[in-house]
Amino acid sequence: MEYHCRDCSHTGSQRNAAGQCPACGSYDFRSPDRPGSEKTPVTSSNWKLVTLVLLWAFLIYHIHQKLYS
Ligand SMILES: [Zn+2]
Repeated sequence: MEYHCRDCSHTGSQRNAAGQCPACGSYDFRSPDRPGSEKTPVTSSNWKLVTLVLLWAFLIYHIHQKLYS
């Protein structure tokens, strides 16, 4: 697996023994093998937001029905 350091842009096949960048010692790595891994939580929170809006619309609609019928 290949790693790409975000601090010094060093690209290598492995980190050093402590899990750091061998060039600058940073822990801030990105793996190009999984480019979609950072987007998964965003998609999940988008679905939660859509569900929240739909539930509020449902609630407001039924309160409106109760009050004005
Ligand atoms: Zn580095």
